[in-house]
Amino acid sequence: MSARDETICAVATPPGAGGLGIVRVSGPLVPDISIALFGRVPAPRYALLADFRAADGEVIDSGIALYFPAPHSFTGEHVLELLGHGGSHVLNRVQQRVLELGARRAQPGEFSRRAFLNDKLDLIQAEAIADLIDSATDAAARAAQRSLQGELSRRVHGLQEALTSLRVFVEAAIDFPDEEIDFLAESDVNERTEAVRDQVDGLLAEARQGRLLRDGIVLAITGRPNAGKSSLLNALSGQDSAIVTEIPGTTRDVLREQIDLDGIPVHVADTAGIRDTSDRIEAEGVRRARQALESADIVLLVEDASDPGADAAGLAAEVPANAQLIRARNKIDLLPGNHSPQGPGTVLISAKTGQGMDDLRSLIRQAVGASDHAEGSFSARQRHVDALKSARAHVDRGLVEMTRSGSGELLAEELRLAQTALGEITGEMLPDDLLGKIFSSFCIGK
Ligand code: GDP
Repeated sequence: MSARDETICAVATPPGAGGLGIVRVSGPLVPDISIALFGRVPAPRYALLADFRAADGEVIDSGIALYFPAPHSFTGEHVLELLGHGGSHVLNRVQQRVLELGARRAQPGEFSRRAFLNDKLDLIQAEAIADLIDSATDAAARAAQRSLQGELSRRVHGLQEALTSLRVFVEAAIDFPDEEIDFLAESDVNERTEAVRDQVDGLLAEARQGRLLRDGIVLAITGRPNAGKSSLLNALSGQDSAIVTEIPGTTRDVLREQIDLDGIPVHVADTAGIRDTSDRIEAEGVRRARQALESADIVLLVEDASDPGADAAGLAAEVPANAQLIRARNKIDLLPGNHSPQGPGTVLISAKTGQGMDDLRSLIRQAVGASDHAEGSFSARQRHVDALKSARAHVDRGLVEMTRSGSGELLAEELRLAQTALGEITGEMLPDDLLGKIFSSFCIGK
């Protein structure tokens, strides 16, 4: 019996107490399990109120049974959903009973994997389910929903079709070697290839946005003690999560928080004020602060603009080369009169009054290349961005070869490789072990 003939079972709702809990079953044994558990096979897609019984007839729970016969189900197999009361013990007992009746425990992501193998979803859509569940902002949830509806898949397929027709054209020319060079030179093959490359570029830009919505960015706040880092974090997040005091060196640990920056999830790390110190606990804080800087996409350096002695040039030098630096000159409410314009990457703000905060937000967005309207895009993963980059590199190389040699063979080969890269996105061309890795990152019951 292959793994796909086995019937799988999992508690599909999160652990803990809730009004309802769901045990999900998928596979050929579903009708037999239904009969053993509550005496009948429910009518397809109708809610059946039933007593779920143990082997000795004792009622384990009463709930609703839903039956989706193959192939019209999430997995494409017979599926049974048992909606019972949402407590860990009662759900485990129902699950245990289903296991006794011949099912086995599902592995993480196994329901989605079966849906993929039965052509119910492509890989992008299966990933979008996981992304929808994990989405950290409204915009991310909407984007994941659009990917689940097939928005990104349609775009990738559109590109694949464009590549196919170009390949057919180039390969037809190769088949007639005598006329090949003339044929390719006279036709608009270069322009057509360039048009495909532009199409890949467009999708790549959108996929980058989509990845941003899913993964968010890491922003580290740093600066001298008392510059106003904790106040700024609170102003950005709209919550009182960091302790604000007038005693320098209060923030001893790295405080982490997630905020919603116009739909982009921003993981903020508020680091200890970096300074030399003899206090061992504070020294540890400083060490962790340096570590947080290393992993940041953006480092926000907060300076006290009202204190002429607080030069932060030394701190700016600590910012790792791979991070973008934004300087926020804080406490401008304490400065008299008009403020001189600042250089690029620098904003004047007051964490206290909120002055300049909009400018700061838009600087952060610009720094990560976020467009002004995250709406309209779909969710994407780094994996998709990488595959699109690889497709683009192949189309580019094909163009170079075509120009250099005037022969279509190398162009045709690069176009084929570009198509393979796109096939990895939807899962059509992905090796089994990589597929397994992707699905196993999903949680149990998905
Ligand atoms: P941190 O040590 O860098 O985290 O600084 P805090 O956020 O704890 O702030 C240090 C002090 O500066 C507190 O008394 C804050 O109320 C004050 N402060 C922070 N931001 C501003 C600001 O924009 N204007 C004024 N006037 N005071 C501020």
